Parts: sequence; structure tokens; C-alpha cells
Amino acid sequence: MLFYNEHWETMPQDQLKEVQLEKFKKQVKRIYGNAFYKNRFDEIGVTPDDIKNWEDIKKAPYTFKKDLRENYPLGLMSGNWDEVVRIHMTSGTTGVPTPMIYTKNDLDVWAECMARNFVAGGLKKSDIVQQAHGYGLFTGGFGFHYGLERVGAKVIPTSSGGTERQLRLMQEWSTTVFTGTPSYAAYIAEIAIERGIDPVKDLKLRLGFHGGEPCSDELRQRIDERLGYKAHGGGMRVCYGLTEVGGPIGMDCESINGIHLWGDHFLLEVLDPETLEDVEAGKPGELVITNLSFEAMPILRYRTGDRVIVSFDTCECGRTHPRIIRFLGRVDDMLLVSGTNVFPSQVEYVLLQHPELSENWQLVVGDNKGLHTLKVEVEPVQGVQIDNTFVAQVEKELHSYLEITCKVDLKPIGALSRFEGKAIRVRDERE
Ligand SMILES: [Zn+2]
Repeated sequence: MLFYNEHWETMPQDQLKEVQLEKFKKQVKRIYGNAFYKNRFDEIGVTPDDIKNWEDIKKAPYTFKKDLRENYPLGLMSGNWDEVVRIHMTSGTTGVPTPMIYTKNDLDVWAECMARNFVAGGLKKSDIVQQAHGYGLFTGGFGFHYGLERVGAKVIPTSSGGTERQLRLMQEWSTTVFTGTPSYAAYIAEIAIERGIDPVKDLKLRLGFHGGEPCSDELRQRIDERLGYKAHGGGMRVCYGLTEVGGPIGMDCESINGIHLWGDHFLLEVLDPETLEDVEAGKPGELVITNLSFEAMPILRYRTGDRVIVSFDTCECGRTHPRIIRFLGRVDDMLLVSGTNVFPSQVEYVLLQHPELSENWQLVVGDNKGLHTLKVEVEPVQGVQIDNTFVAQVEKELHSYLEITCKVDLKPIGALSRFEGKAIRVRDERE
């Protein structure tokens, strides 16, 4: 199976644009029935009738994360409450959660998008999948599960955790596909090797679909090799998504040529966050997403805060839809350290260039008499001796990449936390 839905996935771009405009107009009319959005339109003096052609999309108001939080739980609902069949939300450990609600139709659209993603990534009906994204309020578990089932693969819903059992099931059922966060994939590989299981010889894993957190190319390479994906003729696919637009929605295809998103269901804009103009093709900007198909809580022109480069060209796999070809960071993850913006993913990029260092690391932001300090705790890989010259070299590289001083603190193997879900890489010890 090359495509899940060839008609839509390969639709000529001019036709796709027409579909997007028609759906956008329809969505604006739906959303206008919601008091919050009507108010937002009124404030800028725009009505749904003002949106007629492609350029008019820019007249529509944005939605921000704080809008979802301030209107929790149902203030942004545009659909009919009687039709709602599912409720998800972010964990909200730092405050009010960000909600997302779904009608049966919304869940169908979501499963369709994920099914397209999995087939694009190489999934087959014959695959046996251990689905280890957590089932719960977090959108990952169910989003993956229904997409996998839609394709017709055999899903073992292990959820996250229970690492010994995950490994046992992989052997007993000859599991071919593993899904979960990238950090969990790295952790499973580490435990396998510790238990004397060689993933290349003893397991059959050929594909990994991993999402829920940013993943550097370096970490992807390590997972590809350690879990045997590459050796078994497949590879790791990175997933993109966020609760505010419905959950996980995009994925790498087999060409590893950027993360595909589905234009018939999601309208993508890439804006310069200062001028709010479209960036030139190939330039980085803030990703803005409109959910074109959802009924219950469609979000209009959502300012994701994600810095990305998007390509609107057709992929070599034949799919005509836009792709995130570079993910440069999520604003929520950004740290402000002594006036400098630091993305934890930059630290991972530098560290994992060195095969001597394991993928377990922790960034600590501290405070020394009012001055912010940055330190990264690292572990060596098994059987490697690290000396001061090496540490000094890594500190130099971090400094040149982050443009701020960052100490390296070497810890013994096993000292740093491992993660079964989303990794928590930052410890902020500032007042
Ligand atoms: Zn592709």
C-alpha cells in the first residue's frame, strides 16, 4: 500500500487550495456562532462575508494558547455539545489545562490523518505494533491507536511504562513497530542492551513512530541504529502535533523529507512573528494552523509559537501537501537565560554529536547572586572514559552554539533520570 487515500494525498495543489478556501470560509461561519470568536471578529471590524478569496484569509483573527486557557473548559466550543463524544486536554501541571473536544466526525478526520501518516511512513496491515504513547488525557495514545487500527495493523495497546514487559512482548509477539516518545525509545534500547537483548538479532522492530516531544536528527539516528529499525530495513518516523489543533497530526514519510501535514484538513501559514507577513519560501517563521474540518472546537489561525521551515512543494513520495522540513523549537520550551533565548533541543544537538555521551542529559538553570547560570549534566556511554579535555571541548561547542556559557557536569552512568513518556530535560532552580 503506497497511499492510504491516494485521491486526497496527491491532489494537485491548485485544487487543494480551492478546497482549503471553501473549507476556511465554512469554518469561519461556524466559528462566528461562538461568542468569543464573534467578539474577536467584531473588534477588528470583520465579518464572515468579508472573507471571499485567498488573500482574505489574512483578515481573520488569530487564536492564542491563552485564549484556550482563559476560556476553559468550553468557551471556544463552536459545535453542538450533544454531538461531543471525546474530551482531551494537556496535563496542565503548570496551570489551567488546554482542552480539545471532538465529535464522532472529528475523531474520524483525526484517524484518517493518522492512517495516511502511518501508510506514508511504511506501515503495513501485517505489522504488529506496540503502542506505547500513554492512553489518557494526553492526545498521543488514542490518536496513534485509532490511526493504526484504521490502517488495519495489529495493535498491542501497552501504553507507556512497564519496560521489562514491553521487551518481553516484543520477543513473544515478534513486534515489528514501536510507538512512544523518542526518549522512551532510547530508554527501551538502553534496557534491552543491559538485559543482554540485542535488538538487531533478538527483536524484529523495523519501524518506530515517535512523537510527543522534539527530537534531534542525532537522537533519531541513534534510535534507528540501537533498536534495529535500520538493520531491519525500516527507520524511525517523527510525529508532529499539538492538542490545540487536535493532537498528533503529521509525520515523516518513508523519504524522510519533512513532516507531512494534510492540507485538506489543516491550513498552514508561516509568519514572521514581528511583521505577521508570510515568510519567503524556505525561511523560518512561526507556524499558524487552522483546523479546517473539526466541528466541536475548531481553532482559527492558531499561533503555535513553533519556529519551523515549511515546504509547500510536492514531496518525492508524490504527496502534494505541505511539510515541516525543519523544526527549530517550541516557544513553550524556550528558556530565557540572562537575556539569551535557549532551546533545550540546541543542547541535545551539540551533545549527541559526541558518541561518547549518552542521550541522557539534564539542563539546569541556576541563580548565582542574581546572575543566571547554565549547566548541563551528562553521562558517558558504557565503557568510555571521559577526561577534562573532552569536557572543555564540549563546553566550548555549547558556548559557540548557544552564545552563552554552559558548564558540563559529568555524572556516573545511571545517575540521571530516564523517561517513559515525555522527557523533562530542564530543571529551573531560579527563584
Ligand atoms: Zn513524502
